[in-house]
Amino acid sequence: MTRVKRVYTFGNKEAEGNEKMKDLLGGKGANLAEMNLIGIPVPPGFTITTEVCTEYNKFGKDKVVELIKDDVEAAIKKVESIIGSKFGDKENPLLVSVRSGARVSMPGMMDTVLNLGLNDDVVQGIAKKTGNERFAWDSYRRFIQMFGDVVLGLKPESKEDHDPFEEVMDEIKHKKGVQNDTDLDVNDLKQIVTKYKEVVKRKTGKDFPTDPWDQLWAAIMAVFDSWQNPRAKYYRALNQIPEEWGTAVTVQSMVFGNMGNNSATGVAFTRDASTGEKIFNGEYLVNAQGEDVVAGIRTPQQITLEGSKRWAALANISEDERKTKYPSLEEVMPDAYAELFSIQQKLENHYRDMQDIEFTIQEGKLWLLQTRNGKRTGAAMVKIGMDMLREGMIDEKTLLLRLEANKLDELLHPVFDSDSVKTAKVMAKGLPASPGAATGQIVFFADEAKKYPKSILVRVETSPEDLEGINVAQGILTARGGMTSHAAVVARGMGKCCVSGAGSIKIDYKTRTLGMSGKVYKEGDWISLNGSTGEVYDGSIKTITPKLSGDFAEIMKISDKYTRMYVRTNADTPHDAKLARDFGAKGIGLCRTEHMFFDGERIKAMREMILATTEEGRRKALDKLLPYQRSDFEGIFEAMHDLPVTVRLLDPPLHEFVPHEDENQREMAQEMGISAEEVKRIVDSLHEINPMLGHRGCRLGNTYPEITEMQARAIIEAAVNLKKRGINAKPEIMVPLTGTVQEMEMQKKIVKDAAEKVFAETGERVDYLIGTMIEVPRAALVADKIAEHAEFFSFGTNDLTQMTFGYSRDDAGKFLPIYLKKGLLKNDPFQILDQEGVGQLVKMGTERGRQTCPKLKVGICGEHGGEPSSIEFCNSVGMDYVSCSPFRVPIARLAAAQANLKQSK
Ligand code: ADP
Ligand code: MG
Ligand code: MG
Repeated sequence: MTRVKRVYTFGNKEAEGNEKMKDLLGGKGANLAEMNLIGIPVPPGFTITTEVCTEYNKFGKDKVVELIKDDVEAAIKKVESIIGSKFGDKENPLLVSVRSGARVSMPGMMDTVLNLGLNDDVVQGIAKKTGNERFAWDSYRRFIQMFGDVVLGLKPESKEDHDPFEEVMDEIKHKKGVQNDTDLDVNDLKQIVTKYKEVVKRKTGKDFPTDPWDQLWAAIMAVFDSWQNPRAKYYRALNQIPEEWGTAVTVQSMVFGNMGNNSATGVAFTRDASTGEKIFNGEYLVNAQGEDVVAGIRTPQQITLEGSKRWAALANISEDERKTKYPSLEEVMPDAYAELFSIQQKLENHYRDMQDIEFTIQEGKLWLLQTRNGKRTGAAMVKIGMDMLREGMIDEKTLLLRLEANKLDELLHPVFDSDSVKTAKVMAKGLPASPGAATGQIVFFADEAKKYPKSILVRVETSPEDLEGINVAQGILTARGGMTSHAAVVARGMGKCCVSGAGSIKIDYKTRTLGMSGKVYKEGDWISLNGSTGEVYDGSIKTITPKLSGDFAEIMKISDKYTRMYVRTNADTPHDAKLARDFGAKGIGLCRTEHMFFDGERIKAMREMILATTEEGRRKALDKLLPYQRSDFEGIFEAMHDLPVTVRLLDPPLHEFVPHEDENQREMAQEMGISAEEVKRIVDSLHEINPMLGHRGCRLGNTYPEITEMQARAIIEAAVNLKKRGINAKPEIMVPLTGTVQEMEMQKKIVKDAAEKVFAETGERVDYLIGTMIEVPRAALVADKIAEHAEFFSFGTNDLTQMTFGYSRDDAGKFLPIYLKKGLLKNDPFQILDQEGVGQLVKMGTERGRQTCPKLKVGICGEHGGEPSSIEFCNSVGMDYVSCSPFRVPIARLAAAQANLKQSK
């Protein structure tokens, strides 16, 4: 039996793993291995696989230690021999980091411990060996703080509280009268270490662990545990990352950016993650370590000179001040910069995608600590993709398959109306961390973002714990932190508007106030953010819908080249129809008619029709409705001229239209010349126990044929009228809620008769189709029979899901969230098509329908028609088109092309 390999080493330009092993080694571990293989300087180390995380969750710590103990000890030996030092040794000690890394990057969601292996003896050894006592103690205090936080769980007690370690640090800085941690000397740091250890003792009742091996095992297990922390869970839920994946753990020899002024640490992007421009950019800090740059501890500096100048202009900092206080890496360490520049090019060329890299410079020597495909905004995704295509780096298929369809949504988000923004008052300016326009009410705590329907989360800085609040808020404003700060990275990943590092604003959490340009804002006050310029405005600003143009339009064109299915839209008004057409819809897949019955006089005529007790009475009322319907259809057909429009006949239960209040009932009684009691009696008689399964859909049109007759007449007359004006309408009349072939036959006959009458009256003919929705499970089962009388099917997957699961959509809110939490359901089936169950009915319905009617046109018009994974399914069963809301049309176009490419692979 071959032994399962659980530990993969890397170092010295050799590695047991590689880039393709992300599932096993996590993205970070796989890329660290790969970087070794392509000759990039990376400190040596090893990665414990994600499978071990699964074993840990199943069997617990002791068993896992037993499984990997020998391998880990051997791997540490290997690192020791490369570095020439020894883990736990007092004279010549090796320090390591313990890092998390899932298959897909989850930035900042899990934990990392740096400088592990330190204790009171080892710190002396480090000091002696490096001759840098300050550095040794700085590393030690950092280690205790991180280990305390990550492994021992010492977090702030409540959200208004500070981190217990930060408090110690602040107190000592305050006593000394300095601002930055770099201003502390050895004695301060020693004092901090003592106090940190006291914090640990006080809070855990135990001494800080001194044995390096104990530290290492505890840290490895803590990283496994961090897979289950609340923010990681939330991130997974948000991004549909499976729970069972687990994280890998990478243990890596430390390199130090905190060894003095010739050392530094930073992060960089090969292209601009926010706009997509081809500009190498990033931030760094001298004499710093790890997360200092992203955590907003000090104001980070720009890597390139050009970026530094841009930044200074935005931050209102003079060239003199910039040069002396915030110089670029390019100026400060030109050699390390030059090497970094060429490595970033090499990495981008190797991975053929924009890279997000982490590096450290130890006494002038550059080390790479991470590379990954960088998170980016929707706009950057589109620009980078198109640029790389033009540069010949990738081909069209790679481009399409790489794009994240849902992210296109961001490009359709509202932007500020240019006139309104001119008159708006700028109160502050920060960095344009993530583009977009946001207007909302101020909240100061992430868990309160839900307080208002539109909120702006205002923070001094954000931390990974704030993820949920960032997701809920319209936009994020922070006082501290740069373009690579946590808030900025997360916001860009979500396509959320973010202004970071607005240094002039004053935030007070205790009083819940925000001061900008001399004005004090309270929680709940309105402000607006422009994430593309970094401007913060007073009050709310009007927004408008953006246009589909430039690279975005180009990507749509390329998508259409590789697609098999086409995309229609669900639209009930000429306005929506036009919008969707501009977004590239090739027709309307669902035009609901019931919304047309609510406006002004119409509802009265509708009520009259429903309240009438005779056919004659109904016909009289329907005659009043006819002209309204006809003109509505004319409007929509005109907007969609030359493209098909599927009109669904009346669907909802009638009680939704009748007056339920006494006053309205009296009014109706007067209108119709009957008594209020009579009206009340009829309304009561329409009451249904379960209206969604009641008298609705084609059951209405078959019990009251005159309703279908009127609607069919209105549709055909509208088409005839347009034809006379030279406009080509293509109506497709759709019967809702068909369950039996007899229902379909009867509806078809009523529609045909009505159409023929119109043709005879007007002496004009128009082409039209008759088809049905498939949304009752029985219809899918007898689809072969129904297809003998239908020219098209459209799967109404909202009702089909409702009826297949037996979940009422109106009541599912009570238990679906709990089901999702408990893992009884993976996804909300009303958002993501349940391929396993409902999908079978869709597949069967399509196949059986085409058995009897090979040319049957098949589409989908439920919410799922705009959801990428559901679209992929629709493609796989051979549908002709998907239909979705206007704003999802571009997403569906790309998703349809991707589905086709994946299937023909
Ligand atoms: P995350 O996944 O949250 O980015 P990382 O594991 O990348 O966490 O660790 C965060 C930071 O810690 C890195 O960006 C790097 O600056 C620092 N770091 C990690 N390992 C080392 C190491 N071996 N030497 C020096 N710095 C390290
Ligand atoms: Mg990292
Ligand atoms: Mg329906």
